[in-house]
Amino acid sequence: QAKITGRNRHHFFDADLDEQVRTHHNRRTEVRNAVRGNELLLYYQPKLDMRKGRIVGMEALLRWNHPTRGVVGPMEFLPIVEHTDVIIDIGEWVLREALRQLQSWRAFDVDWVISVNIAARHFQRHDFVERLTAILAEFPDVPPHRLELEILESSALSDIAHVRRIMLDCQALGISFALDDFGTGYSSMSYLKRLPADVLKIDQSFVRNMLVDRDDLHLVSAVIGLARSFGRGVIAEGVETIEHGAMLMRLGCDLVQGYGIARPMPAQDVLTWVEGFVTAPVWQAAAALPPI
Ligand code: C2E
Ligand code: MG
Ligand code: MG
Ligand code: MG
Repeated sequence: QAKITGRNRHHFFDADLDEQVRTHHNRRTEVRNAVRGNELLLYYQPKLDMRKGRIVGMEALLRWNHPTRGVVGPMEFLPIVEHTDVIIDIGEWVLREALRQLQSWRAFDVDWVISVNIAARHFQRHDFVERLTAILAEFPDVPPHRLELEILESSALSDIAHVRRIMLDCQALGISFALDDFGTGYSSMSYLKRLPADVLKIDQSFVRNMLVDRDDLHLVSAVIGLARSFGRGVIAEGVETIEHGAMLMRLGCDLVQGYGIARPMPAQDVLTWVEGFVTAPVWQAAAALPPI
C-alpha cells in the first residue's frame, strides 16, 4: 500500500515538473514570437539637465503589447529569454527601432542622445561590435555619438578584459557607455577602475531614499564624488520629486531621470511632452539653491 502511494506521488511530481517545463518552454516561444509578430514597442523616458533646464536624452525602455494582457513591462518577459539567443534578436530589434526613431526625430531638430539597455549575453557576443556597426550603417543620418549603451556592472562579471575591449571598440566608433544601476553590484569599485564607462547611473534605490536615509544620502554623494574624481559623468535615476532634484543638484549631479520629470511614454507622445516641459519653471527653481 505504502509503495503504491509512493509511486503515485512520484508520478504526480513528474507530471508537475513536466508541466513546469512545458509552461516555461511555451512562454519562451511566446516571447520569441512577439519579436516576429511585431508586438514589441519602445517607450521613452527623458533625461533632464537641471542646470541647463533642457532635455538632453531619451532612454528607450522595452514594452510588449501583448494580445490579451495589454502593455507588459520588460521585467515580466526579459528574464524568460535572457539566457537564450532570443535576447539578441530582441536587443537588435531595440537598437534598430531606437535609431529609426532618432532618425525621424531629427526632422524636429532635436539633439538628444538615445540610450539603449543592452543585456549581458548580447553585449558579450564576439560579433557585437561588427553587428552594431552594420546596424548603424542602416541609419546613415544618425551619428554614432548620439547613441549611448547602458550596461549593468554584472555584464562584466565573467570576463572584464573582454568587456573592456568591446567598450573601447564601440567608443572608437563614437558610442558612449553608462553603467546602469551603479552601486548595486558587489564590485562596483573594481569595475569603475577597469571599465571605461563615460557615465555612472546612480541606482534608483539609493536616490529614492536619500532624503530620509542618511546612509543612502552618503552613498549618492560618494558616487557623485567618485564620478568626478574619475572624470566620468553622473546621472541619477528614480528622481520622483523636486526635492530629490534639488538635493542632487546641490550635491553636484545635474542630470536626472525619473517619474518626477516624466514617466516612460510612447514615442508619439514625446514631442508634445517636451514642448510643454520647456515652459515648466519648476526644475529651474531647484537650480537657484546653493550647492552643498
Ligand atoms: P533600468 O534600465 O534601470 O530602467 C529604469 C526602470 O525604472 C524602468 O523600468 C523605468 O520605467 C523605471 N523608473 C524610471 N523612473 C522611475 C521612478 O522615478 N520611480 C520608479 N519607481 N521607477 C522608475 P522598466 O521600463 O520596467 O525597465 C526595467 C528594466 O528592464 C530596466 O531597468 C532595464 O534593466 C531593463 N530593460 C528595459 N528595456 C530594456 C531593453 O530594451 N533591453 C534590455 N536588455 N533590458 C531592458
Ligand atoms: Mg537603463
Ligand atoms: Mg537603472
Ligand atoms: Mg534597473
